[in-house]
Amino acid sequence: MTLNSIQAIPLKRSIMNLILLDLADIDADGYAWVRDPRRVRHLHEVHGVASGDELTLGILGGAIGRGRLISLGEHEACFEVIRLELSPPAPLPVHLVLALPRPRMLARSLEHVTALGVKHITLLHTRRVEKSYWQSPELAPGRIRDHLWLGLEQARDTVLPEVTLERRFKPFVEDRLPELLQGRRGLFAHPGMPSACPRGIGDDTLLLVGPEGGFIPYEVERLLDAGCQGVHLGERILRVETAVTALLARLF
Ligand code: SAH
Repeated sequence: MTLNSIQAIPLKRSIMNLILLDLADIDADGYAWVRDPRRVRHLHEVHGVASGDELTLGILGGAIGRGRLISLGEHEACFEVIRLELSPPAPLPVHLVLALPRPRMLARSLEHVTALGVKHITLLHTRRVEKSYWQSPELAPGRIRDHLWLGLEQARDTVLPEVTLERRFKPFVEDRLPELLQGRRGLFAHPGMPSACPRGIGDDTLLLVGPEGGFIPYEVERLLDAGCQGVHLGERILRVETAVTALLARLF
């Protein structure tokens, strides 16, 4: 390949799969105004969209359809909503309990699991979660929502997952877990457990994934006592975000 032909390759425009709008963004004439600086910046930087483009739009918590970008300024974007006719994709029947990962991994994990269709997420403290992670700005409701929002746009979904923070393991296991396990199968991923993670189950499931250092033996005992089953994914130890993706893909 000559230098000229390399230069001639156009920059690939990255167009978002769906632009998610809040019902509150839409005026009486069917125009949606986006004024949140992060989202306007994102439209400029990532979406690579231009005025006149027809795009897939979704209404938060509602339908999916088509719209047109009318204008994209420095501080606001305006879309014309053309039609809204499709339902969002089916959610996964899972409540995911994730030992709080380090902030960067948290951001990516939230985005990935949202894209995969998880609608209930609990972030849990366990012994091997570093206490400082609980101070991270990534846990501010606005930041969490931003990551969920990106996951929804990626997967063409409109329904925000609900995220709960559980800062103490023992009260979670004793007071919350029995209730969460009602009518659900409980599984926790832990290397070295005797059973392999089941495949293609359709059941409503509560799935627990440990921190980078894994669950400690005391936690494994408490989860077993609560009626959860420990499952492994084979002899390779995966990063939390890879393990979560592998578990969800295998289970559902
Ligand atoms: N260092 C820990 C593993 C931590 S991996 C150890 O050796 O035990 C982080 C989390 O991802 C684990 O707590 C578990 O929930 C999940 N995970 C990663 N690889 C896994 C595997 N092969 N089997 C089951 N769970 C796994």
